[in-house]
Amino acid sequence: MDKERKLIIAGNWKMNKTVAEGIALVNGLKRELANIKEVDIVVCPPFTALCEVSKAIIDSNIRLGAQNMSESNFGAYTGEIAAGMLKEFLVRYVVLGHSERRQYQKESDELISKKAQAAHAASLKPIVCVGETLQEREANQMEKVLQTQVTGSLAGLSKAQMEETIVAYEPVWAIGTGKTASSAQAQEAHAFIRKLVAKLYDDTVARRVRIQYGGSVKPSNARELMSLPDVDGALVGGASLEDRSFADIIKNSI
Ligand code: PEP
Repeated sequence: MDKERKLIIAGNWKMNKTVAEGIALVNGLKRELANIKEVDIVVCPPFTALCEVSKAIIDSNIRLGAQNMSESNFGAYTGEIAAGMLKEFLVRYVVLGHSERRQYQKESDELISKKAQAAHAASLKPIVCVGETLQEREANQMEKVLQTQVTGSLAGLSKAQMEETIVAYEPVWAIGTGKTASSAQAQEAHAFIRKLVAKLYDDTVARRVRIQYGGSVKPSNARELMSLPDVDGALVGGASLEDRSFADIIKNSI
């Protein structure tokens, strides 16, 4: 598949996998994906597995991501993890503002934008998640929600930082539900986000920024979704927990 932007496909393991299970998973991925150069491949284990997974993938084409980080660099923030700590494990990407964190930890767009700025300050690439709920979609609020989340979560980033930011469009109703956005729905939302980036920054930034789709991506729907003009990769939850399914998503996307 010949696309203007390099695909980036990331596996979000969420609160799954012990250290031993994580190592077994990436060892399987290394075998399956050794020759893939066309896609940026990222795994996002829980914090507890970052160190050992990092060692296991050091000589491979798989890069490391984290699932969250603090907006602060150090200090009295019990239970938090700073960007500099992630860098110690050679983490390159960090998922920010996942809908589960927006829902359960009540993360706001303002907080997410502070985290995104802190990530860039530490040379980590943020994967900033946005997406509407079913209720919002049914009330025809999709564009309004995306406008608010994109504008708020990306506030304060320079043009250069924005180009190195990945936006993940994840309709909440499609996450972990087995329901996938149709091609038309995904393309419409991605094109809307890209236009918004052009308005907030400029056409060059909008042309360069990568927008992932997330929500029940699996081997059987990856090819169609990844072929859409404004879809530049995937953020994968459930199907990234097994080496064959995550590898097949990647292989089916090229
Ligand atoms: C996610 O949590 O980011 C996600 C897209 O999950 P799933 O692939 O399981 O829908």
